[in-house]
Amino acid sequence: MSFAGAKWVWMNGAFFPWNDANIHVSTHALHYGSGVFEGIRCYNTADGPALFRIAEHLERFMYSARTHSLAIPFAPDQIEAAISELICRNGFKSCYIRPLCYRGSRELTVNPRRCPIELAILAWPWEPLHGSSSVQSGIRACISPWKKFHSSMMPATAKASGQYVNSILAIDDAVEKGYDEAILLDVDGFVAEAAAENLFLVRNGALFTNDEKNSILLGITRDSIIQIARNLGYTVTIAPLRAADITSADEVFLTGTAAEVVPVCDVDNTRIGNGECGRITRRIQEQFTRIVSGQDAAYRHWLQPVYRASEVPA
Ligand code: PMP
Repeated sequence: MSFAGAKWVWMNGAFFPWNDANIHVSTHALHYGSGVFEGIRCYNTADGPALFRIAEHLERFMYSARTHSLAIPFAPDQIEAAISELICRNGFKSCYIRPLCYRGSRELTVNPRRCPIELAILAWPWEPLHGSSSVQSGIRACISPWKKFHSSMMPATAKASGQYVNSILAIDDAVEKGYDEAILLDVDGFVAEAAAENLFLVRNGALFTNDEKNSILLGITRDSIIQIARNLGYTVTIAPLRAADITSADEVFLTGTAAEVVPVCDVDNTRIGNGECGRITRRIQEQFTRIVSGQDAAYRHWLQPVYRASEVPA
């Protein structure tokens, strides 16, 4: 991944050239992770670039901020307008968008309250997290020795910067061992989620996933896939899952804004199904792709066009 093609960054109400969007090293969030963020995708559609489920992303962003006592000095519609203008200025047809609200520089006690609240928005073209081929051919994962933090320690349903140290330990361990991704169990030994994706499994033609009782972030892609799968006629059961349910599943896949819908073909060197992307995973992926590219009228309300069709950059 690189940020190639990203020219502008939005910071606290103004646009800065990418190389000038800098902060001081005394920034509180850099030391203690005192920030909240979102990951949003903009997809190329026949109506031009369109934001996928922007209302839900901004709702979660505001919830994360409230949970961490960050009074974002901009309203959701102002943030959405800033995102749209940022995409226009950068001339992107599709991209990943990263709003970040964080405690800035004033002092470095752990208490964040005297540090200013800053808001920045980045956008850059980004292929699926595990690479374009991952959505076809799948990835290899391990069950992490690191447990997902319990929601009584930090609210897992909020998307805060500092909590990603837990994910970083897990993914670093997985990559060191030669895997692509880590699956974290919760403190009770049930499946939580991957480093930055939710988990689904397929057994006997039905789908299973867990919820916030297992300390997961309630992914917007997860919610989309639950709706898509049910609309395709599949049963989706939401219940705690065990590690053994993964290795005995017919199919396993992960969902996330960055990763999209990615099959897991091998967990701890145990092949899942026939070791390839499963039939139901493929069907759901294809439907997801149709929806995000604006080809399914029934889901058009999930897409918010960034430009009018006549303004789409050449
Ligand atoms: N879990 C974690 C820990 C994540 O960071 C993400 C990515 N935001 C997800 C799940 C998936 O969430 P979403 O589908 O909203 O991107």
